[in-house]
Amino acid sequence: MLKIKAYWQNYIDGTWTDGGAGRIVVDDPSTGEKVAEQALADAADVDHALDAAKRCHETGVLTAMRPVERGRMVRAMGDYLLANIDVIAEVLCHEAGKPLWEAWLEIQGAARYFEYYGNQAETLEGRSIPLGASYCDFTTCEPYGVSAQLIPFNYPVELAARSLAPALATGNACVVKTPELDPLSSAYIAEAAEYAGLPRGAVNILCGLGREAGVALVGNRSVNQIVFTGSVPTGISIASAAAQNVVPCVLELGGKSAAIVWADANVDALVSSVRWGIFFNAGQVCSAMSRLIVHDDVHDEVVDRVVEMARSISVGPGIERPDFGANMGAMISAAQRDHAEAMCREAERQGARAVVGGRKLDQPGYFLEPTIFDHVTPEMSIAREEVFGPVLSILRFSQEEEAVRIANGTTYGLVGGVFTADVTRAMKIAARLRAGQIFVNEWFAGGVETPFGGYDKSGYGREKGREALWNYVQTKNIAIALQT
Ligand code: NAD
Repeated sequence: MLKIKAYWQNYIDGTWTDGGAGRIVVDDPSTGEKVAEQALADAADVDHALDAAKRCHETGVLTAMRPVERGRMVRAMGDYLLANIDVIAEVLCHEAGKPLWEAWLEIQGAARYFEYYGNQAETLEGRSIPLGASYCDFTTCEPYGVSAQLIPFNYPVELAARSLAPALATGNACVVKTPELDPLSSAYIAEAAEYAGLPRGAVNILCGLGREAGVALVGNRSVNQIVFTGSVPTGISIASAAAQNVVPCVLELGGKSAAIVWADANVDALVSSVRWGIFFNAGQVCSAMSRLIVHDDVHDEVVDRVVEMARSISVGPGIERPDFGANMGAMISAAQRDHAEAMCREAERQGARAVVGGRKLDQPGYFLEPTIFDHVTPEMSIAREEVFGPVLSILRFSQEEEAVRIANGTTYGLVGGVFTADVTRAMKIAARLRAGQIFVNEWFAGGVETPFGGYDKSGYGREKGREALWNYVQTKNIAIALQT
């Protein structure tokens, strides 16, 4: 049994430090009991971290080396996480409430980002532009300098890696603000940076409250670029702060993503996708499959099958669920769980029918039953608003137009899906869905290599894939007049 240390510090300028705002208690969502205390950064700590990052950038240490050397250090960070995965996953399991096997997947996912972007470091190249015999003209890709990154609670390690890896691979120095609900396991990212030999100030990891450290970070003039992953309301205030300082900003926000299911869909594959799509991480996934829009001809069969699957899921403490299977952990906090449950009650009031679940579990910890609503109509709040919990809404359709209209009928546009044996139909619908990523016949198909990001209120910019590299560099053009 892992003994988790009682107090965790922030990592600023290569040094472990206390927080000017004191400490925050991190609890275990599966019991409600205290796990440890975490140092809380205040605005002065944020300034200190940004000064360190700026100094690191201005020394040129990250940009002077060959990109392959930078890439090796980034890859080594992933190696460190994998070498310590049993310890890190257990801490993550306790602080985030997720099953142990899901925590393992998260650390493996984080390591994969460091591997992928480490490998990409030496692939970014400029181009030469012909201007006739009197000139030589070319472009270079330069890092912005100081990248500020704000991380949500649902995948604290993996999402930090998602932004940190391409930022470092392209030569930026970073300040990462971890989520206050589950900040502990991010300390291992700082350890990984030390292990990899990154220079002081290249990676700063601090926890602080959004309204204090987060606001101080995004408003600071030393920041050259911002990556925010989180909710729409916070994203709007981050975008406003970025606009004030005229710095670019990537917004990876929430979703209310829908899968359209045709009568010729493979129902076994669909049920497996629903299991992952809405019950993975207790539904606390931005790209969760939170709506199923099902053709009339197959509606009853689909409802029976997904209800049977939801009933088979065992819900309880993540540490007692070490193995991949039909199980689910807790939600992150009592507040998130109660909010999700209140949304379920409102759905019932508006006429939706809970065919399974809909209530919190009567036991310690922040558990919500795997929940499926049938008889949902597009105007109901459960069909329009992000629950961020294990709650699926089933709607029905008879004509393609109707299905596309329902799928596109929210303010979000993160991902979408089509389940059908007819690839031509899938391609036509994929082109009409307003979302940054479309899954055909398998929810979450893709990987680190595939670009990800939102349309509409789900945000802008793309993380993952080659596309993400462009978030972290700016183009410089150099024109040389040749002497005659
Ligand atoms: P949140 O917006 O409450 O917080 C995200 C981060 O921002 C936290 O670190 C928080 O401390 C910080 N923050 C809060 N207020 C701030 C402010 N005013 N200024 C600066 N920083 C501030 O989000 P959350 O509840 O942690 O995460 C859930 C949300 O994140 C959901 O909406 C989910 O869909 C979204 N999300 C999106 C993606 C994606 O890639 N699109 C991935 C994961 C989660």
